[in-house]
Amino acid sequence: MPSYEFELKPKELLRLMFFKKICPNCKNKLVKNNEKTFLERGWYKMNGAYYHGDQYHLKFRYYCGNCSKEIQLLELRHRRFFKDK
Ligand SMILES: [Zn+2]
Repeated sequence: MPSYEFELKPKELLRLMFFKKICPNCKNKLVKNNEKTFLERGWYKMNGAYYHGDQYHLKFRYYCGNCSKEIQLLELRHRRFFKDK
């Protein structure tokens, strides 16, 4: 069972949950392009239990095929629950 660790600042978490995943430049729909870095294989602790498996560090990224550009969470501009102007 692989495990993923990630660091998200509160601002990034907010955007991950509540912002539309569309390109800030061209409003194209973004595709998920999470960056997974292998850390090590071994035992790790999660919710008080021990597991054995591969451990990864995960970075949340999005990609715009139209601009051929990687978009960071903090670059997202459009909230999901508001109409675009
Ligand atoms: Zn774009």
